[in-house]
Amino acid sequence: MMRMFRQVLSVAVLATAVSVACTFLLMRLFFPGGQGMALALAIATIVPVAVSVPTTSYLYRQREKINRLHRDLQAAHEELKGLHEKAEHRASIDQMTGLLNRESFLTKTKFRRRKADAGFLLMIDVDHFKQINDTHGHQAGDKALLLIVSVLSKHIRRSDILGRLGGEEFALFLADLEPERAWEMAEDIRRGVEAIVFRPRAGVAHPLTVSIGIAPAPPRERMYAIMNHADDSLYAAKRSGRNRVAFRPRPDGDDAETVNQGGLARVS
Ligand code: GH3
Ligand code: MG
Ligand code: MG
Repeated sequence: MMRMFRQVLSVAVLATAVSVACTFLLMRLFFPGGQGMALALAIATIVPVAVSVPTTSYLYRQREKINRLHRDLQAAHEELKGLHEKAEHRASIDQMTGLLNRESFLTKTKFRRRKADAGFLLMIDVDHFKQINDTHGHQAGDKALLLIVSVLSKHIRRSDILGRLGGEEFALFLADLEPERAWEMAEDIRRGVEAIVFRPRAGVAHPLTVSIGIAPAPPRERMYAIMNHADDSLYAAKRSGRNRVAFRPRPDGDDAETVNQGGLARVS
């Protein structure tokens, strides 16, 4: 209110000053004898005040209204942006585990691979998971999955990408590291899951283990081919007894299949 008053007053003062000055000069020019000067100056004072005060207050109020609308519009835009980001986030996340879902895992990995020299893809599948559901119920199965996810999350680096491909299968993309380090990380995860003490019911323990298949992810290799390769490795780990990490050679490669046997790597 005070601001409006100040603004109206300054416009009125300025308009009056200009009006009085101009009237004075014109009167001196056309009526050098000074006739009617007092009346002319009175009119030159009253008219600008009478016109400028309501006009300026009206314009001021209109400007305030526009500013308010602009602020409201900006707030609505921000809110919409937030909701959009939230919706986008929800759509990219697996609601149960909070991990990336299959699509967002693949998208994120695609972008990461563009920036990375090379990497490794790990396929991680829970062993005999159906047994948990069948023996202790679906809720116990969910609890086991969450325990496993917490171990996976604990063993990865900030730059790694972890996703739930579906059911009890997870994928982990590791960029820019030596093969030995990828193997070590897989082993750490395997051992971490093995060490979980899972009690679906009081006094009842159920072992949890995962099998892990590794595939290298060279820059130009297609993602589906890398996934197939990691799946082959995973199958090798399952076939050789589960609770294993396996690296299967490419069909055209000359590297030997490696499957750990209770922590020891066996090269065949
Ligand atoms: P394998 O060692 O060969 O991998 O055997 P598995 O029992 O783990 O594999 P299988 O594919 O036979 O069973 C997977 C089960 O996982 C079947 C499905 O009901 C269960 N499952 C998938 N998603 C969920 C989930 O979100 N919660 C629970 N509780 N179970 C799930
Ligand atoms: Mg399984
Ligand atoms: Mg499976």
